[in-house]
Amino acid sequence: MSKQKQRREALIYHAKPQPGKIKIVPTKPYSTQRDLALAYSPGVAEPCLEIAKDKENVYKYTAKGNIVAVISNGTAVLGLGNIGPEASKPVMEGKSLLFKIFADIDGIDIELDTEDVDKFVETVKMIAPTFGGINLEDIKAPEAFEIERRLKEELDIPVMHDDQHGTAIISAAALLNALELSEKKIEDVRIVISGAGAAAVSCTRLYKAFGASSKNIVMLDSKGVIRSDRENLSKEKREFASDRKIDTLEEAMVDADVFVGLSIADIVTPQMLKSMADNPIVFAMANPNPEIAYDLACKTRKDIIMATGRSDHPNQVNNVLGFPFIFRGALDVRATSINEAMKMAAVKALAELTKEPVPEQVNIAYGETRLTFGKDYIIPKPFDQRLISVIPPAVARAAMESGVAKAPIEDWDKYEEELLQ
Ligand code: NAP
Ligand code: MG
Repeated sequence: MSKQKQRREALIYHAKPQPGKIKIVPTKPYSTQRDLALAYSPGVAEPCLEIAKDKENVYKYTAKGNIVAVISNGTAVLGLGNIGPEASKPVMEGKSLLFKIFADIDGIDIELDTEDVDKFVETVKMIAPTFGGINLEDIKAPEAFEIERRLKEELDIPVMHDDQHGTAIISAAALLNALELSEKKIEDVRIVISGAGAAAVSCTRLYKAFGASSKNIVMLDSKGVIRSDRENLSKEKREFASDRKIDTLEEAMVDADVFVGLSIADIVTPQMLKSMADNPIVFAMANPNPEIAYDLACKTRKDIIMATGRSDHPNQVNNVLGFPFIFRGALDVRATSINEAMKMAAVKALAELTKEPVPEQVNIAYGETRLTFGKDYIIPKPFDQRLISVIPPAVARAAMESGVAKAPIEDWDKYEEELLQ
């Protein structure tokens, strides 16, 4: 499709037949006088009183437990940068749509007109009683780190900044599988991370939680290798500073086993790929254009295992594989947070699911004949019906085992059946 045609289609899609992508619909009868007397005054006073007696009853009598706020201030929207809260609204509505269709969660988009961290945090805290969870979205680093840290500390509902953790979870699942295919151990591999922003920092932390070793990691930002002797490093960058006396991506790539790109397009050359170790794993995830084009990379190295953020190539690292299902699991046990154990459980469940035989509907949905675990299929596809029955239970179990579930699940068979409805 030409760029021009795509632009036209996208604008019409958003404008017609009514502007936007989501709306609210009632879930209770409302056609008689009696219905209305229950839905509103005087009947509504009864649940109000029950909740006033015990706040937890809000989950029993209102929609709170199934509503997630998708909150942005529009400072780091897609690859478009700081375009402001109004211009971020289509993205947040899109996220709401994905929450709904993949996990039947009601996502309410909220765009805040502030770049001030204190004001942002205060505002979210004040509106938190409405929601079962908070999905922070498209907020620029380093503010995003502090906003998420403080909200996690101060709220007792799950809070997740998806740009950080979504990418980390999906790419970690892909990485575990790619390492298995290339018969390498995460503890041993040399990893180059291009980018030191919200996504890169969170990915690297998660890879370390799975065993990646600090001494094998080199991270780069727009100035080159983040060396420990460099001055004025942010707290996050210092965390990943390398003692190696190298400065460039070219140097870092020599003998590297893994390249993870969360930076900008076209900075990796064929020459650099050729200098990597055998069976190199290359996740070039800059959007919309990766650090090296898919076809060029595959042509340069026959033994490559490659993933990108794009849907037009195999192995798309797509956050939609994560957030709907992670919040589903967290909400269903009324988790007070989304912690490391829950994220790691999601990673393992995603990685394992990839190795199961792929249902025919998935092949059909993607015009494939036989998707099977291998270098062109290292993570599940978004339209895989099994995700909803596999990821939320894994996350819910991890929440229970790590002690953050306020409403533990007792009947797992029943829960899994409910998820499929
Ligand atoms: P961000 O917070 O703005 O971070 C961008 C980082 O890239 C910064 O650390 C920046 O360095 C660094 N950078 C810029 N030019 C560079 C260069 N030539 N070499 C190495 N690093 C360079 O953005 P983000 O949210 O982390 O996202 C980064 C990229 O990943 C974007 O393209 C985004 O679309 C993509 N992404 C993809 C997925 C996905 O595929 N699922 C998910 C999340 C993000 P400084 O710190 O020096 O400015
Ligand atoms: Mg985002």
